[in-house]
Amino acid sequence: MKQVWNEKRELLSREEIEKIRLRRLRKQLKYCYGRSEFYKQKFDDIGFQPEDIKTWADFRKIPPLMDKEEERQSQKESLERFNHPFGMHLCCPPEKIIITKTTGGTTGMPTFTYSFTQHDFDRWNEGTARVFWLAGIRPADRVLFCFPLSGGWAGGIVKTPLQYMGILCLDLGAETPVEKIVEYANITRPNVLMSTPSFAEGFIEAYPRSTGKPVSAIGIKKLLLSGEPGVAIPSIRKRMEEAFGGKWNDYLMINSEGFSGSCLAEEYNGLHEVALDLSIWVEDLIDLDTHQPIEVKNGAIGEGLLTSLDREGLPLIKYRLGDVIQVFTHPCECGYPGPGYRIKHLGRLSDRLFVEGASVFPIAVRDVITSFIPRVTGAMRIVLTEPPPNITPPLKIKVEYGVGIQPNQLPELAREIEEQMLKVYRVRSKVEFVLHEALGRVTKKTPMFEECYPS
Ligand SMILES: [Zn+2]
Repeated sequence: MKQVWNEKRELLSREEIEKIRLRRLRKQLKYCYGRSEFYKQKFDDIGFQPEDIKTWADFRKIPPLMDKEEERQSQKESLERFNHPFGMHLCCPPEKIIITKTTGGTTGMPTFTYSFTQHDFDRWNEGTARVFWLAGIRPADRVLFCFPLSGGWAGGIVKTPLQYMGILCLDLGAETPVEKIVEYANITRPNVLMSTPSFAEGFIEAYPRSTGKPVSAIGIKKLLLSGEPGVAIPSIRKRMEEAFGGKWNDYLMINSEGFSGSCLAEEYNGLHEVALDLSIWVEDLIDLDTHQPIEVKNGAIGEGLLTSLDREGLPLIKYRLGDVIQVFTHPCECGYPGPGYRIKHLGRLSDRLFVEGASVFPIAVRDVITSFIPRVTGAMRIVLTEPPPNITPPLKIKVEYGVGIQPNQLPELAREIEEQMLKVYRVRSKVEFVLHEALGRVTKKTPMFEECYPS
């Protein structure tokens, strides 16, 4: 059995892949400049020509060119002027777009980043297939696919790489009544579940109600749950894996092309970058405040800029993701042989808190808390008594204490956690304990914050 999905592309040395990337990058920049007045204007404004990019360092000097708000503006303009929603950064005739999915659009106009020409659709399937293979999905698997609104929204496009890999996808959509899904799963016997963590949680409860058996009776051994936090919270992950009797893997497809997925290592080691030939994002980090390029070395933290390679319809160039990532350049224990780095997604830039001049991400707080397992369960909330990002110390953290911990042990445990927060992040904090399972459910809302201030 092959080790990676695409041995020809994924097993190149860093040196070899860098050559391919630079070639593709120059071609992509030239293409965008020639095909879209949006990009031509952008490049002209900062005074660079695609031919100027001769080396990696030349490229890194280019400032960010676009963000989500600007993408929306670009879409509004193309809708007004050219009667299509894909944006002024579209580089092909609009009729070449054969598939489009939007990303919810909870605030403002939905974005049409997931719009593909046939070429881009093949590219999407290829990149995602590598992620799924890394997560242990193989031909002959049967995947129960239950994402919400899987028809028109971005969640739905995650299923097409399965067919591309030759894998049966049993697509029901999370809107189907859960009893029907249970019935269907009993007949079709999937061994993989792809859904959000909250769907999986509901399924664990619904299955015994309908069948009298535990959910493990179906035989689902692989869980690919995504779209909400959860996998990195050990208590939630453990409960999910025990209930199904399978392993949970994580993946992330940032803005339709930051292809990355978790491996089969025992410990959760973050996400492997698997498609260096298709996009640049991990290696193009900027400082969170100054927006200047920062050196990408082990442990570096920055905001990722996304640049498409080999994209025909809607290439993104130096696109500010708004996601803060930490990069790990040392090899993973799983032995993944590709040249890509690993990343940890620290959250949205907008999630950052400032406590007396120290900046901290909710995920960093969670990491401190989870280092105290089993004395705590790992579930936690940051209690906000005032609107973020500026917090008057101490930072209030609600923490579930672990099974078997006696109430008289809690003050000492709180003191240890608070000391650790101060030591690692220079943040004064105040821990409040709640019973185990009091915070433990996965919900559709991000479980990081509890807002306790008048809105
Ligand atoms: Zn690994």
